[in-house]
Amino acid sequence: PILKPRARSGEGDILCDMKLGAQTIVYLAGLVVGSVVRVFSTLPLRGNVRAFGRASALDRGLLSFASLGMTAPLFAIFTPWLSFADYSLPPWTAWPGGVAFAGAIVLLWRSHADLGRNWSARLEIREGHTLVTGGIYRHMRHPMYAAHLLWGIAQVLLIGNWIAGPVLIVSFVPLYIERATREEAILIERFGEEYREYARHTGRLWPRRKR
Ligand code: SAH
Repeated sequence: PILKPRARSGEGDILCDMKLGAQTIVYLAGLVVGSVVRVFSTLPLRGNVRAFGRASALDRGLLSFASLGMTAPLFAIFTPWLSFADYSLPPWTAWPGGVAFAGAIVLLWRSHADLGRNWSARLEIREGHTLVTGGIYRHMRHPMYAAHLLWGIAQVLLIGNWIAGPVLIVSFVPLYIERATREEAILIERFGEEYREYARHTGRLWPRRKR
């Protein structure tokens, strides 16, 4: 029973160092559901053929940093390694944290469902790539990146650690900035006026009001 806190800690006992407030429970629940959505959405796409792509060293580096940022809370919760940076969050942050995490998971799920085989972790154009403008992409061009930013906000609200809390948002913002423009450039290269027209009617991370 890993999640059962022991009474009064003894020094150096890893289980006693664990933070088991409402935030931790909400975080772990979100992580499990979010990971299930991610794995089940991407597993069937493994054999996809890439027509052309551009994986710069900067992009790879930022992607690894953000992936590490997503797993950092597990180290804060289950090991004493980051305990020097712990602080205690007020209990109410479990609510907005849970709402943000739920929003992130819904966005992740819908964007994978709508993007289908056109998804990839890198910026690239797949063989048989089609431009998706329906479903959640009718409202915004980067719902999956919005999902990660929300996930990062949830992490700040749920993880009382100066490193593991903010690390995802801190690593994802530069990744997003680096990507959004280049991604739109390769989509314009591939789809031309069709993408420009699509971009005129959508927001990047936020739905744009239709005229
Ligand atoms: N930026 C999007 C998609 C992220 S996945 C989002 O945040 O939801 C990254 C891949 O999606 C890129 O390789 C890009 O070629 C592809 N892509 C992005 N927008 C697309 C669209 N509207 N239709 C088809 N493919 C798209």
